[in-house]
Amino acid sequence: MISGTKHTNDDVLYTVFKKHYCPECQAKLKRTKTTLVVNASSPEARKYDIDPYIIGEVKVQLVDFRCPMCGKEISIEDMKRIEGYYVVEVDEAEADILDETRR
Ligand SMILES: [Zn+2]
Repeated sequence: MISGTKHTNDDVLYTVFKKHYCPECQAKLKRTKTTLVVNASSPEARKYDIDPYIIGEVKVQLVDFRCPMCGKEISIEDMKRIEGYYVVEVDEAEADILDETRR
């Protein structure tokens, strides 16, 4: 029984409208979608941030990049790191403090 679908990390602006290149062979990367099914109570589900109150199986849709030349697979997080993006997680309270200090 499939109880829902979880879309992870599909940053369309980043994955569709920006060009990305393979760090190994410089070929233009293709955006790929992978769908997998995980049991919501399995440890693997935690990795995909699935609501632990769901009972049964959840479809997880992952988007990443694949190199058509060498077959290298690169996650969006890794690609951002390679391209020099900083992935900073700021919670609401902290964001308020940052706003205050900026003024
Ligand atoms: Zn490559």
